Amino acid sequence: MLTSPAPVHRARTLADALAWRATHPHATVLAGGTDLMVFLELGSANPTSVLDLWGCTELRGISEDGRTLGALTTWTDMVRHPALPVALRDCARTVGAPQIQNRGTIGGNIVNASPAGDSLPMWLVTDATFELASVRGVRQVPASAFWLGYRKTALAPDELLVRVHLHPHAGDRLHYRKVGTRLAQAISKVVLGGRLRIEGGIVTEARVALGSVAPTPIRAHHVEAALLGKPVDPAAAAAVADDIAPIDDIRSTAAYRRTVSANVIRAWLEGEAAA
Ligand SMILES: Cc1cc2nc3c(=O)[nH]c(=O)nc-3n(C[C@H](O)[C@H](O)[C@H](O)COP(=O)(O)OP(=O)(O)OC[C@H]3O[C@@H](n4cnc5c(N)ncnc54)[C@H](O)[C@@H]3O)c2cc1C
Repeated sequence: MLTSPAPVHRARTLADALAWRATHPHATVLAGGTDLMVFLELGSANPTSVLDLWGCTELRGISEDGRTLGALTTWTDMVRHPALPVALRDCARTVGAPQIQNRGTIGGNIVNASPAGDSLPMWLVTDATFELASVRGVRQVPASAFWLGYRKTALAPDELLVRVHLHPHAGDRLHYRKVGTRLAQAISKVVLGGRLRIEGGIVTEARVALGSVAPTPIRAHHVEAALLGKPVDPAAAAAVADDIAPIDDIRSTAAYRRTVSANVIRAWLEGEAAA
């Protein structure tokens, strides 16, 4: 484990964490540390003090009905939870490898706000809400309003992400697909989340979201519009060209991301059309 000279406050309760956060709004929050430790090693994080949440057991785990996930829920917790939709468990299974899945948390993934964060498109397509808390109170922020720009979130300096709320849409079809260099320990080149409601053979609700193709995870509104009001049409995938603004970086090229985004959406829709 890397060390830092910064003093660490180890909170055991949410109340303690929020009270300490209120008086130390510039402290760095530590959950599983799997992102933060990398930043420490790179020198891009130089905390003056650290708020360690790991001991706040009330922030850990998933409600029995699978609707409420504590911010400290790990990917392993998600993989093992029988009430969660299969696509969400599939998503958790693709994060890092077992070591990262045992330690990394959904809260860390969400607040780290990397456009390549694997879970982010899934919170968008499930219309999840994020519960943010401070000593001032609690507010619910929809996932669609949380990521404001590259690694920029709606979290105020004195707030913590405490829970994620899912609002299940019975009968809807949820999909997850990650494209990386290899099956484990790979940061996404493209990540896709999708949800379709099909009534009487007609798509009546569509959510399509992508990661790694813009400064934030994004909804593919043009694809969604092209899907509505008719049977599932794989050709709607082409509309993604109007939704994304990928860049060349060390992991991939913009051209690859454009092509692959359309391909993974088309493959998903072809599967749905044939189902
Ligand atoms: C080898 C390796 C492989 C990885 N593979 C993947 C991958 O495949 N897919 C992927 O998406 N990610 C991957 N990651 C990144 C990382 O593991 C995940 O993003 C993980 O979910 C982060 O959670 P954490 O608890 O470790 O976050 P931490 O490192 O503890 O925190 C991350 C950030 O979030 C803030 N934070 C954490 N929790 C809260 C909270 N409750 N309230 C407010 N702020 C908070 C912290 O201050 C920090 O800025 C990988 C990392 C490593 C080292």
